[in-house]
Amino acid sequence: MDAQSQLETSKLVINLPYFELIITGSRDWVDRRSVHLPLTRLLKRHGRLLIRNGKNRRGADRIVSDWSSHFIDELVLERPYLPDWDTHGNYAGNLRNQDMVDAGAQAVMAWANPCRKNGRWCPPGEHPSHGTADCVKRARKAGIPVFFSPEGMSW
Ligand SMILES: [Zn+2]
Repeated sequence: MDAQSQLETSKLVINLPYFELIITGSRDWVDRRSVHLPLTRLLKRHGRLLIRNGKNRRGADRIVSDWSSHFIDELVLERPYLPDWDTHGNYAGNLRNQDMVDAGAQAVMAWANPCRKNGRWCPPGEHPSHGTADCVKRARKAGIPVFFSPEGMSW
């Protein structure tokens, strides 16, 4: 959608509330199409999207950011949630996830690859990347429905 048609669309939807969405996903997610398609569908259905995004520089967060940047804020408004690593260390990502959940959303979309860390905190067997799993767990605890990309893991 070019800028002019976005402006015209925004006049039609300006009275609609934003559909609020939390996005989460693995840092090694590379498939852009599996991100663009559901977001575009959601935007068409609801007219306006507010996206809470943890803004990792790579992976699903980045792909969502790049997609959002093609739209004016009246249609797709991205709210960044940057983890404060200096203050909270390794736990910063979890606190950031909780901030997104506390801010509220009508849904969570998750693009989850298996964890490839093989670290000492990893449970045995295949499991989703930890940040994504943490965000999903917190969202569910708050009663927010979670939708998984069919191209990734779901649980
Ligand atoms: Zn792991």
